[in-house]
Amino acid sequence: MKEFNINNLVRKNILELQPYVSFRDNNTFENPVFLDANESAFGELNRYPDSTQKELKEKLAAMKNVSAKQIAVGNGSDELIDLIVKVFCEPKKDAILMMNPSFAMYGFYASVNENKVVKLNLDENFGIDKEEFLKISKEEKPKVFFLCSPNNPTGNSIEGIEFYIKNFNGIVVVDEAYIEFSEHKSCIELLGKCPNLIVLQTFSKAWGMAGARVGIAYSSQEIIKLINTVKSPYNINSLSLNKIMQLINYKNIIEENIKIL
Ligand SMILES: *Cc1c(COP(=O)(O)O)cnc(C)c1O
Repeated sequence: MKEFNINNLVRKNILELQPYVSFRDNNTFENPVFLDANESAFGELNRYPDSTQKELKEKLAAMKNVSAKQIAVGNGSDELIDLIVKVFCEPKKDAILMMNPSFAMYGFYASVNENKVVKLNLDENFGIDKEEFLKISKEEKPKVFFLCSPNNPTGNSIEGIEFYIKNFNGIVVVDEAYIEFSEHKSCIELLGKCPNLIVLQTFSKAWGMAGARVGIAYSSQEIIKLINTVKSPYNINSLSLNKIMQLINYKNIIEENIKIL
């Protein structure tokens, strides 16, 4: 990778965008009477949820040994894929790179945003041909590479992922939706040395919480800030947030789910 400057990869209009800030994010109140958001004063779900998902991020930060500022929470990792395309890919101009076969949603969101979808055909062992990867990256200059490992639908992990992160002139998104089923380590540990890396994980698979729609992105503080700027303020609803906060303390759930699956 050439000299890395995130500002050269981000769409210009996004760099200039001011994020929506909920008044309550930066204020604490004693005996509050909230009139700022026109909510009802009664009921169970009357208040808007925490737009910053602070509690969940602090919990995940401790679990994954990263800063809470390196975490963005999405309405499923699907929403995070959409947001990543929106942050980095100029409509009608930029391209994304994805493996073939792989998870269809990368191509779907790129197409919604009018970005070209370049496909890297996997070899007979469902691995990546390095020469082909380098050639196609040079020719097509895709902005974002979605690397799914373990890959859906082939099930195998991609070997030597660091090579692809280091040799790509753009953002590499490692989608780890199935990491809990794998012997391989998460790429989260590469974040310190790979400024162009985003790692996606989800509560939908091994955690068994697909109905809650909660996905996580781990990256640099700069990239996370951009994703948070573009997301809808209250993208995770209170019911899902509360449920995940209950579940996350029940550590055996992943092992139990994996045994059943
Ligand atoms: C299921 C799946 C997702 C989507 O996860 P959600 O968090 O439910 O949106 C993302 N990537 C891959 C590879 C998947 O299989």
